[in-house]
Amino acid sequence: MTALILAATLSLPARATVVTVTKGFRHESIEVAERTISELAARTGYLTIQFARDDDDLARLFTPEALAETDIIFFLNTTGELPLPDRDAFLRWIENGGAFVGAHSASDTFHDFPAYLDMLGGEFDFHGDHIEVPVFVEDREHPATRFLSSPFTTLDEIYQFKRYDPSRVHLLLSLHADPDSGTPSSLPISWTRRQGEGRVFYTALGHRDDVWEAEWFRQHLLGGIAWALGVEEPQRRRAARF
Ligand SMILES: [Zn+2]
Repeated sequence: MTALILAATLSLPARATVVTVTKGFRHESIEVAERTISELAARTGYLTIQFARDDDDLARLFTPEALAETDIIFFLNTTGELPLPDRDAFLRWIENGGAFVGAHSASDTFHDFPAYLDMLGGEFDFHGDHIEVPVFVEDREHPATRFLSSPFTTLDEIYQFKRYDPSRVHLLLSLHADPDSGTPSSLPISWTRRQGEGRVFYTALGHRDDVWEAEWFRQHLLGGIAWALGVEEPQRRRAARF
């Protein structure tokens, strides 16, 4: 397990709210994804998790008072327009130093809330069939990617984005060719952003059960979460393990 450098301002375990509410497409992988994040929390001891699985949970866990008691929010394959009690307060919470993590269809969420999409750094546009692709590591020092070979291959549903501006994100993983046509192009797969005082980590992977069950993906998530919380920072890579 990766060693963690504890930030002075955060005592672990961090208080996490994991949202799996869907108002559009619902991924079958949510069940295994919830299990994955619970296992990671138990294995590392640095997250205590409250799940927001329905509208009542969102109403309870996204009040300004509840946000003040939350360290990290994870949109795990959410879709559509989530009925947050105060969505501006949610974005202010990130601006003021909250940690936000999004997986896969977190970018297929809040299409009518541009400020959310700008915070995330991209908006889901379309995807093709599941396909095995070579994924290139763009940051070999980041905790979410420094243990990966470049390129490594994975089989998943690959998202293409709109409302994505490479100058607004720090790219961690990308494809160097269109997954379907093979035409050379840069397609973002995972990135980070700073939003005010807050830290944002997004990975576009995570459609399939077997991705959530893969050890490299678990390490990828864990590194992203640790960075977003400020408990791990980029450092020189050791040997790739995946
Ligand atoms: Zn999907």
